Amino acid sequence: MALILLALLPVPPKLKDSRSSVVSAENNAITHNVLATVLEGLVESGKNGITLDCADGQRRHCFPILCAWIADHMEHVLLQNLKNNACPQCEVPPERLGDPPSALNAPVRYSLRNHRRYQQLAEDYQDTGDERRIEKLAQKGIKGLFNAFWILPRTNPSELPKPDLLHTVYLGILKHLMEWVQDFLKKYNRLDIFDEVWSSMGAYPGFTVPNKAYRQVSQWQGKEMRNLGRIVLAAFTAALRAPTEAQRYPFRAATRCVAALIDFHLLAQYKIHTETTLQYMHDSLETFHKEKYIFQEFRVGKRAKKGIDKLIAEMALTQAAETLARKNSGESAAKRRRVTVRQREELAATREEEAAEKAHFNFIKMHLLEHFGSTVQRFGSIPLFSTDISELAHKTQIKESYRRSNKNNAATQILDNYGRVHAFGMHVLNLMAAIQNAPPNLLNDIKKSGVEDVLGLEFNSRGPISSTTECALPTGQRLLRGPDNATKNIDDAAMALGIPDLAACILRYAKNNGLTGPKDLPESLKDLSEVRARRYKTLQVPVPVFQDPDSYVSHNLRCTSSECFRGATARNDPVWINVGEDVTKTGDLNGRLPAFLRGLLKLRGGSNNSHRIAVVEMLWPMNGGIADTCDTLIRVQRRVYKSAAGGIWVTNIRSIMGMAHLVPYGQGRWLVNNRIDLKTWNDVYMGLRNAI
Ligand SMILES: [Zn+2]
Repeated sequence: MALILLALLPVPPKLKDSRSSVVSAENNAITHNVLATVLEGLVESGKNGITLDCADGQRRHCFPILCAWIADHMEHVLLQNLKNNACPQCEVPPERLGDPPSALNAPVRYSLRNHRRYQQLAEDYQDTGDERRIEKLAQKGIKGLFNAFWILPRTNPSELPKPDLLHTVYLGILKHLMEWVQDFLKKYNRLDIFDEVWSSMGAYPGFTVPNKAYRQVSQWQGKEMRNLGRIVLAAFTAALRAPTEAQRYPFRAATRCVAALIDFHLLAQYKIHTETTLQYMHDSLETFHKEKYIFQEFRVGKRAKKGIDKLIAEMALTQAAETLARKNSGESAAKRRRVTVRQREELAATREEEAAEKAHFNFIKMHLLEHFGSTVQRFGSIPLFSTDISELAHKTQIKESYRRSNKNNAATQILDNYGRVHAFGMHVLNLMAAIQNAPPNLLNDIKKSGVEDVLGLEFNSRGPISSTTECALPTGQRLLRGPDNATKNIDDAAMALGIPDLAACILRYAKNNGLTGPKDLPESLKDLSEVRARRYKTLQVPVPVFQDPDSYVSHNLRCTSSECFRGATARNDPVWINVGEDVTKTGDLNGRLPAFLRGLLKLRGGSNNSHRIAVVEMLWPMNGGIADTCDTLIRVQRRVYKSAAGGIWVTNIRSIMGMAHLVPYGQGRWLVNNRIDLKTWNDVYMGLRNAI
């Protein structure tokens, strides 16, 4: 996606009376007039078309049409002249914003916004002065009489807003979810466990480990909220373990609710959708709406909260007066104490009832989720239109340009600077392409001219080496890194790793895999401990990226035994081992088991045969590896063995599939966090098996 800075919109200074309706209407009108000036160039070409040079060398008659405007909801409110709680896409009334979504392919429940009609009403009002026209517009949540988008041909303003992961999901619905989760945990006294789980999350590629308890983080940004979506379900489930009989029902409902919303947010990140995945996305949202009532009491607005506080204060006053009257009438202290307890319960019950009555889910970001499915059907996946990129561009294009300006009348300088940077960028790319295709006899001349210094290119005999090529590992190739040269043989390794029976474990592995014999590994324990071995601290495994078959992310699996890792605690990462179904029933784990990495070794057998092995401690699935029906997570545990070597396995490093993310769930037990990334979620268990 290329982003080109076109214009800077004027932001009126916040003056004392800028909140008055006259001033804000004036400000809106100015914004729209400026926008109309910016968009004017699209009017003629949109109507009659223009001839454009295409990349394939052909010239074509094209109609450039404005198709999307990616912004936060409040920016759409300004762009579309809407009331704050009006949907930019449909005419949903404010009190229905929290309704469950209508079926995926059903006709829309509320008519889509018809800007032709709004324009007509506005023009009629200007011609006739008939107030009823204005009232009609106001009913539909429209405030202004002119919209810059109305001048554009072939453009429907209501289709310009696209679902936005950053503002609607990460900073919108996930933020709300966290507030409910916090209130819920507080109500049941589980906040401390939650914070403990939160601040002890394990590492994972692409995931920034939170270094503070949840409550201590004061400001949440998109990046942190994205991280949060990957761990909140596991942390919540871990915080709610071992419920009392009375807690069982609310805990299960709350977990189902959190799981549904987290699943929705994961599906929204898909780059490719089918009708089935869209149906999953819709079903997750529906499940959330079915279960959301468990969090209803925490959805009280500020004004409603004040009202309730006032009511409770009044009740308390009356109760105090009654108590005083009874005391004066000579009632016994014991009886009075009983009454006081009853009164306190009454107050709590009233507060809860009032809260449940006044609370609702009618807020705009709740409703915007409903449009996700239909947008994907019409315009493609949601990440295509996310503001993540444009927010980044804001930094590079505007902030950087402002820094370079002399801060005096900066707007023009900002626009000029980026135009210049952009033009240079294009020129460099063109030069690079030209040099790469240059005939070999010209290469010397190119080198002499010093172009490579300007472009930052490196040459080899055949031509320039592109500096941007990623050195991705070839499919399936695993690399051992960080050798420990102090380890010379298996005996040394046993000492370094703190596994006294290491040789016995390796022998068992060698025998099972037919690696023993005069030309390879020896068959006696004594000889085996003398076999040359080198210990490594990192295993690099390429893991395919979900929905992107040509790319890999490199998982660096650390195994430092008892030594510190980068000044922090030792790391013996949890990894996935491919075991198939022959060892145990793996259920929803689909033939893989999590294990802790305890050692990485390269052995040299006879005839210089080398064996790259991993020493691991297996974790075993509980409940046959079947995921829990509520939280849809799988639990694994450490098994107790008679001998220390019992739990230690040796395996070829080829069977290691990547890092696993485990969340502690009581002594010797873990939750498999399959929401950590889309790939794990699809490989391990989506929890949507019964969704269709
Ligand atoms: Zn809507």
